[in-house]
Amino acid sequence: MSKPIAPASPTESLRATGARVTGARVAILSLLTQANRALSHRDVEQALANEHVDRVTVYRVLDWLTSEGLAHKIADDERVFRFSAVGKHDDPHAHFKCRTCGDVFCVPTGSTPKLNLPAGFKSEEVELNIKGTCARCAG
Ligand SMILES: [Zn+2]
Ligand SMILES: [Zn+2]
Repeated sequence: MSKPIAPASPTESLRATGARVTGARVAILSLLTQANRALSHRDVEQALANEHVDRVTVYRVLDWLTSEGLAHKIADDERVFRFSAVGKHDDPHAHFKCRTCGDVFCVPTGSTPKLNLPAGFKSEEVELNIKGTCARCAG
């Protein structure tokens, strides 16, 4: 445990919100934390099909995790929302969408690209989306 920022377990992160730690919340946050790509509602639903987490709960928990800052929501050009756990990628990062399989990945970029905004404009959020072929599809 010598790492400066030890990643909290999903249960610890949930407990830190002060909200109730439910089985569905733990299951969904664990899933997002373990996934190496961003997951859509459907991905989560399918992954938890055996745990009897229904569709409404999946939607509600994903939105709740996002509002609590434990997950972030990525909208792609098809208007499909995908979710990824925060913690792995707290820093500004890009999203990479594979044009072959459609998967979306969080890609750490280290910093946000410098933008020259017109006078008086204040940026609050920068989204950087990259499209291409993921390692699996390229290989
Ligand atoms: Zn791919
Ligand atoms: Zn991300």
